[in-house]
Amino acid sequence: MKPLPKEFDTITVERKWQKLWEEMGVYRFDWTDYKRPTFSIDTPPPYPSGEFHMGNVLNWTYFDMVARYKRMRGFNVYFPQGWDCHGLGIEVQVEKEHNIRKRDLPPDKFRSLCMKLVEKYIAMMKEGIIRLGCSVDWTTEYRTMDPDYWRRTQLSFIILYSRGLIYQGTHPVNWCPRCETAIADAEVDYEEREGKLHYIRFPFEKGGEHLLIATTRPEFIPACVAVAVNPTDGRYAKYIGRKITVPMVNREVEIIPDEGVDPSFGTGVVMICTYGDKEDVRTVKRHNLPVITLLAENGLINENGGKYKGLTIEEVKKAIVKDLEAEGLLDKVEKLTQQIGLCERCKTPIEILERRQWFMKTRILTDRVAKEANEIVWYPDYMKTRLVDWARSLDWDWVISRQRVFATPIPVWYCKNCGETILAEEEWVPIDPKLENPRIDKCPKCGGKEFIPEKDVLDTWMDSSITCAVHAGWPDREDWRRLFPADLHPSGVDIIRTWAYYLMVRHIALFDEKPFKSCLINGMVLGSDGRKMSKSLKNYVATPEVLNKYGADAARQWAAAGGATGSDIPFRWPDVEYGKRFLTKLWNAARFVSSQLVDFVPGENFELQLLDRWVLSKAEKLTQRVTEALEKCQFNIALEEVRNFTWHIFCDQYIEAVKDRFYKAELYGEAKRKAAQYTLYTVLYRILQLLAPITPHITEEIYQTMYAEHVGAKSLHLTRWPTIDPNMFDEAAEKEGDLILALVAEIRREKAEKRKPLNAIIKRVKVYAGNSEYADIIARNREDILGTCKISEITILPEKGEGRTVPQYVEVSFTTEYE
Ligand SMILES: [Zn+2]
Ligand SMILES: [Zn+2]
Repeated sequence: MKPLPKEFDTITVERKWQKLWEEMGVYRFDWTDYKRPTFSIDTPPPYPSGEFHMGNVLNWTYFDMVARYKRMRGFNVYFPQGWDCHGLGIEVQVEKEHNIRKRDLPPDKFRSLCMKLVEKYIAMMKEGIIRLGCSVDWTTEYRTMDPDYWRRTQLSFIILYSRGLIYQGTHPVNWCPRCETAIADAEVDYEEREGKLHYIRFPFEKGGEHLLIATTRPEFIPACVAVAVNPTDGRYAKYIGRKITVPMVNREVEIIPDEGVDPSFGTGVVMICTYGDKEDVRTVKRHNLPVITLLAENGLINENGGKYKGLTIEEVKKAIVKDLEAEGLLDKVEKLTQQIGLCERCKTPIEILERRQWFMKTRILTDRVAKEANEIVWYPDYMKTRLVDWARSLDWDWVISRQRVFATPIPVWYCKNCGETILAEEEWVPIDPKLENPRIDKCPKCGGKEFIPEKDVLDTWMDSSITCAVHAGWPDREDWRRLFPADLHPSGVDIIRTWAYYLMVRHIALFDEKPFKSCLINGMVLGSDGRKMSKSLKNYVATPEVLNKYGADAARQWAAAGGATGSDIPFRWPDVEYGKRFLTKLWNAARFVSSQLVDFVPGENFELQLLDRWVLSKAEKLTQRVTEALEKCQFNIALEEVRNFTWHIFCDQYIEAVKDRFYKAELYGEAKRKAAQYTLYTVLYRILQLLAPITPHITEEIYQTMYAEHVGAKSLHLTRWPTIDPNMFDEAAEKEGDLILALVAEIRREKAEKRKPLNAIIKRVKVYAGNSEYADIIARNREDILGTCKISEITILPEKGEGRTVPQYVEVSFTTEYE
């Protein structure tokens, strides 16, 4: 066997294996293998942001540890990687970089700028995934902006439309006036801001009397369609049914009773506008009130705003407040904090707008989502309520159309003559209706020959919410259900309401089946100050900085050890440094082992000694604990177990205790040296295997130098996970070994306290074992004690005696005598 070199250059070694693994095809899914069970991972295709940040490092380390573990457990693992390209994020970025708006360029030009930016970002993020050592099968790589992908998105649209689960309607939706598009509830971020509550007089028709109304949005006065009070509010019951005048526009509206009005808010009288907020939407619907659209799609006031036409929201607010004041209708203004909904991509406050949109019927699926969520295994379990709560909180169906450019086209046309909706046939996709006509001669309804394309495009979540089926090969592979539902969907705690939810509703609607069998949730990465990591907070650490300094295996240990699955974990440099120190310890231990195994031939005769059986038994129990932890995705427990065992039991205790068998082989005899060789060989290999999912590079490097030839697998990552052999559990050996090693440790500790070098010879040691059982154990293993502690002569007595006691075994004590 070859000895390992002294130096270990992390970065060079990691790069080498990343390249070789890909060349050797170690992580390819084998479509032709029907013997091994499959394990499919629904890798969420990331939205290309250009940066593989520490949060990504955490996610991908999680998926990769599962992938590697399952592969070693004998599964044919499917670990795909795609890129979720479309969407507002990229468009907003292109608009910023080129200082343009979507309308300034022809759509195809704008789209190609988006694609260019996406490709640049993908290259940067892909580099991050590779450098982290992820065992992705790169032959599966895909981009949702490729026609071959959006063919599938369009196909799913056609199927759902045909089933009546997609419809067009004019309903209020969240609207970003800057991006000029509808957005879904999940794309709205909420922020607390200080606002103002205006107390405004609404006069009755016959002068004199008035009601005082409190509102945070006086700019919506021109769109006021009713005034509401709570019917149980005695102060106002007598006004119900009367007419009142809306100031500034001098229009009369009715005072209506509505149980949704909170009598304790403001004056207890509210104006209902179309639409100041979501509550207005509900009230308008309940009372079947008229709708006055006040905002144009670009967020400016339209003709319904009268003299305020053309102003922005902020401008009209100021103007109206000023006008109210001038007319003596503004009683007072109070400060209050309020939740403001912002566009997730550009942070502009959202408005509510009515416009014809496409919707998917998601609310009718809520009970089914809840039922399926209960059948999925969640790591950690409590995360499932987040999904169910979110599903139940949704007021509206999912608005799936967007008024944007860089997205999957909606495969629909309208007859110019009669307006009939023409849906693309399944065979026509991929198709862009803006570039191609429907493949029919005439309108099936009126015979008209001219068609108008649907210009709206699909929400990018329509692309990424079918990944479980697409990864499995739908619709092209006949056997796609072999990999569906996915065995594992990994997700961040922040995207349960989007990714996990949309996957659920889409796959249930399309295939009457849940998309995945288990869901692994990772928390957020916090800065070292405990706050969310962010560039503006100056607690931000860039991934390349970490990888360049300490390498992937150290960074992965930070991710694995950071905390329980699902909890937020802080980034701390000392955690990565500790990971790196552990790798050095492992390397040095392996180097010692390899230097002692130069003449080792596996399978030769040997006599296992007590400490050999002791460490082998402990390694077996370690295997059991690590296996159980990995089965439950408890990565922190798995890693701590292996690190403790390697560092303290294997290196500090076992290796130290057997060194003498090698250095003074003539005293101990060949069989005992060979037993130590066998044990070192076996236990180190076990450590490498247990660590392989967490630190894949260093373990591979050691495996290839020391084990590949004997074991036969072309990579450590293709070896079989050790099966636990209860016959290897040796309680007696563990008990005896623990005693011997505790005694040895205490003798060495005393030596250190006396400032003697570790190899100083002790002339005589007298051990008072405290009882005859301990005396027998110690006597049987006196050779190991002599060798490890450099003792010339030892006397073992069964009785209790004076001297230094061994902390874990207080009945045992000893005295020493030096030259
Ligand atoms: Zn926006
Ligand atoms: Zn027609």
